[in-house]
Amino acid sequence: MQIDKYKVLIGLEMHCEISETNTKVFSSAENSYKETPNANIRPVDMAFPGTLPVVNKEAIQMALKASMILNCKQPEYMYFERKNYYYPDLPKGYQITQETKPAPVGIYGSLSYDCKGTTKTVRINNLHLEEDAASTDHYSNFSTINYNRAGVPLLELVTEPDMHSADEAVAFLETMRSIYQYAGISEADSRKGQIRCDVNVSIMDKDKDESNPDNWGTKVEIKNVNSFGGVRNAINYEIDRQIELKENGQYDEMAQQTRRWDEDSQSTIYMRSKVDAIDYKYFVEPNIPKFKISKEWLEEIRKSIPELANERKDKYMKQYELSDYDATIIVKDKLVSDYYEEVIKLGGNPKKASNWLTTVILGHLNKYDISIDQIYLTPNMLFDIMKMVEDGKISSKQSKDVLYRCIQDEKEPKIIVDELGLKQVGDEDTIRALVVDILDSHLDLIEEYRKGRNVFDFFVGQVMKATKGQANPGLTAKIIKEEIEKR
Ligand code: ADP
Ligand code: MG
Repeated sequence: MQIDKYKVLIGLEMHCEISETNTKVFSSAENSYKETPNANIRPVDMAFPGTLPVVNKEAIQMALKASMILNCKQPEYMYFERKNYYYPDLPKGYQITQETKPAPVGIYGSLSYDCKGTTKTVRINNLHLEEDAASTDHYSNFSTINYNRAGVPLLELVTEPDMHSADEAVAFLETMRSIYQYAGISEADSRKGQIRCDVNVSIMDKDKDESNPDNWGTKVEIKNVNSFGGVRNAINYEIDRQIELKENGQYDEMAQQTRRWDEDSQSTIYMRSKVDAIDYKYFVEPNIPKFKISKEWLEEIRKSIPELANERKDKYMKQYELSDYDATIIVKDKLVSDYYEEVIKLGGNPKKASNWLTTVILGHLNKYDISIDQIYLTPNMLFDIMKMVEDGKISSKQSKDVLYRCIQDEKEPKIIVDELGLKQVGDEDTIRALVVDILDSHLDLIEEYRKGRNVFDFFVGQVMKATKGQANPGLTAKIIKEEIEKR
């Protein structure tokens, strides 16, 4: 592939369900995942005649919060629009959304993100709030519809085509996922179908000026890619495909088209060309009056934006002196970062807590593919273990056993230490009495020691033997020295 001759342009349309509101965006049905189909619905979600939408203030608030984080301009007045089309998962025959500027919750924003150590910036065309459709499942000779998802608040983010590789697109999406999680807007879990992306890809001559849209290539839109891995593979596949067309002189006559990503064949498959594009006949949703967004309300929302991943990372590096690598690993998952902050709040040493997390605990989570809230070990328990090491009650080698047993047997660290009789003898008086005894019966060796022979290790060894290895080595050494010098 002659990739160096071309530049790739990628624009993303990222859908993310808002999972953290109590109810749906225009109905009082719970906004929660239910296994039983059609259990989470109200008449309005089914488009029963005579029902009317009621806007969920919480959803607007979260959407505006996201808009601010993305440095967008917020509207003075907000209204919704109808996007008209028919599909069985859309009982009203239209979706309530926001299309025309300036209605969307956010326009003209930008977001900087880190891609493999380099800071990149993407312009945000708009962020808008809409309702999710029902979900359909297809079987060999019938299909089912589940309306639980109908009306779940959905944020659609549209970027300008400012990304240039699959790596950049995935890094951007990961940053967005983290923002949604840290800001308390969504779990943003693609395994639960909460994130869905449309990926737009085109190629252009490398030497041409990218800031002039006339120089852009014809974009191909890949619909409904449901995982970040899928986004990466779809982009790379599409780049290769388009370059091949270009090299064969077929690219420039290609009409703008929509394709879909097929996981089984790991390829994009033609769906329709722009000529067949549907006219959605947008118009202002008449059942939701236009309403004003006050400056005071916006201010209140701005104040509610919590510390986000990049700010926590800065704090970890500057205040806690963690390496870039460790700080990055900890903030990557909000649950892990919250856990870490909890241990520090209890008084844990930030560097030691980081070591525990990045090595032992994350290793365990990765091995079993579970999240940190699924293990028995709470921040309090980790702190207890760290404290026992610090106080010389157990050795650092023993502490790892305690931690693994705590997770495995689901027992508190203190109980495990008692049960295993692991306790180091950390009591000064006990160790001192032993040392005095041992020195008394090896007076000859004390002489040797004074002459310069190294018998120190022997004495430590004797104490260890007497305590079955449970004496705190540091403390023991200190006491032996003191007691010899006294004589
Ligand atoms: P449409 O009219 O087909 O909806 P838009 O201009 O609204 O197209 O853009 C939709 C998405 O496609 C945006 O994310 C935008 O960044 C992206 N896009 C537009 N042109 C290109 C291009 N030439 N290459 C890659 N992506 C593009
Ligand atoms: Mg568009």
